[in-house]
Amino acid sequence: MSWIKEYVRTIPDYPHEGIMFRDVTTIFESDEAYPRMINEFVDHFKDKKIDKVAGIEARGFILGGAIAHMLGVGFITVRKQGKLPRDTHREEYTLEYGQDALEIHLDAINEGDNILIVDDLIATGGTAVAALNLIKKAGGQVSDTCFIIDLPELMGSKILRDMGCDVFTLAEYEGL
Ligand code: AMP
Repeated sequence: MSWIKEYVRTIPDYPHEGIMFRDVTTIFESDEAYPRMINEFVDHFKDKKIDKVAGIEARGFILGGAIAHMLGVGFITVRKQGKLPRDTHREEYTLEYGQDALEIHLDAINEGDNILIVDDLIATGGTAVAALNLIKKAGGQVSDTCFIIDLPELMGSKILRDMGCDVFTLAEYEGL
């Protein structure tokens, strides 16, 4: 079992009945687990050609900012709609109930830059694929993505791999 599972708190039936919410704030709060986890991500990516890190609001910021710092590269914010002040690309995606949208600044990425996408968890992949589409619209490419947790039965990690991206995760859980 991955050491990190000891630090993940599971809340059944949150935010809806039948969902096992994997709360990673318990990792972020730990003096041991948070830096150890960041070091594991950085070890995996340090010899790859990563030009920038893109974090998905909000937990992806807490991971991605630290990873970008350690890799010595800049950080791009992928935000929920309406939060970014300059002109943006926008990508809608489907949630369990209804639609949501992510945005990125039009000029956030240099043409051809290889961007590492970071978020806390991959489930259906809707959020990560929206981020990937935004990065491509802005002129970037994505060879790699990483998440603390994969829920493989929801197929998001497979979808990303089928789209040509590597997916690096630290732990897997069965079910929703
Ligand atoms: P998806 O777009 O289906 O891959 O969902 C991924 C996003 O939803 C991530 O930003 C997660 O933070 C959140 N999420 C989805 N399912 C869970 C879960 N079981 N526990 C915690 N967060 C989740």
